[in-house]
Amino acid sequence: MSALTEVGLDLGGFARPRVPVMGEQAAPGLLIVPAVNAEYRYSGGWWLVHAESGRVLTAVPTCVHCARTGAGLLAGHDWTRPVLVLTADPAVQATVTGARFVALVRGCASAYTCEIPEGC
Ligand SMILES: [Zn+2]
Repeated sequence: MSALTEVGLDLGGFARPRVPVMGEQAAPGLLIVPAVNAEYRYSGGWWLVHAESGRVLTAVPTCVHCARTGAGLLAGHDWTRPVLVLTADPAVQATVTGARFVALVRGCASAYTCEIPEGC
């Protein structure tokens, strides 16, 4: 059985069609997917994505190590819930905007510049 699941990335609301990519399930409802740029090409990094909505949870692409570490920080929440329920949950917002998660994503910044020893 494959750990990969197809997801339609929501990269810009109603102005763009969803972009289908294969994602690795990090937790139920939470996927690690290859980042896609404005030209619908892989950018070289990885995003964390809410599977049901296709919304990207990481502000910038990271290396796959940091994506998996970030998924571990987020895994305590039920990501199978609808996006409007998740965005209204203060505990989810506290984790996604929390210092540990933000420092991890910013510390990696991209698959090309990760300074985390275990990364890239
Ligand atoms: Zn990294």
